[in-house]
Amino acid sequence: MTCLDCGAVNRVPNDKLGAGPKCGTCGTKLNEGKVREIDPAILAKAMKNDDTPLLVDFWAPWCGPCRMMAPAFQQAAGALAPQARLAKINTEDFPKVSQKNNIRGIPALILYQNGREVARQAGAMPANAIEQFVRTKAKMPG
Ligand code: ZN
Repeated sequence: MTCLDCGAVNRVPNDKLGAGPKCGTCGTKLNEGKVREIDPAILAKAMKNDDTPLLVDFWAPWCGPCRMMAPAFQQAAGALAPQARLAKINTEDFPKVSQKNNIRGIPALILYQNGREVARQAGAMPANAIEQFVRTKAKMPG
């Protein structure tokens, strides 16, 4: 499981997912149910290494619907922990990441697992829809 703060890759057995695992490098809790702001380098690592589902919100500060969805996204992160993780990428800071992922409009949610994109969804969603999206599309650990 990639630390969404420092990018270190940690080995966490599935039966330890609920035990509040911490990053061996920086000490950040790996799956405490908080949305992390990440950069493209960490996204690339997490995509490649993680079995744990990772849902990424591609957003920008100027996007009204993105800002409106932020509390729902945080709520879904809490509901899905410790089985899945939610993160966001600011596409204004990292415009190339939108291009690379063929994102045409934001907010866009992309679900990654086991080194690939599993599903994507465009447009804002309420918390329960975000949670359902992850539960139905990803293979939930544990
Ligand atoms: Zn770390």
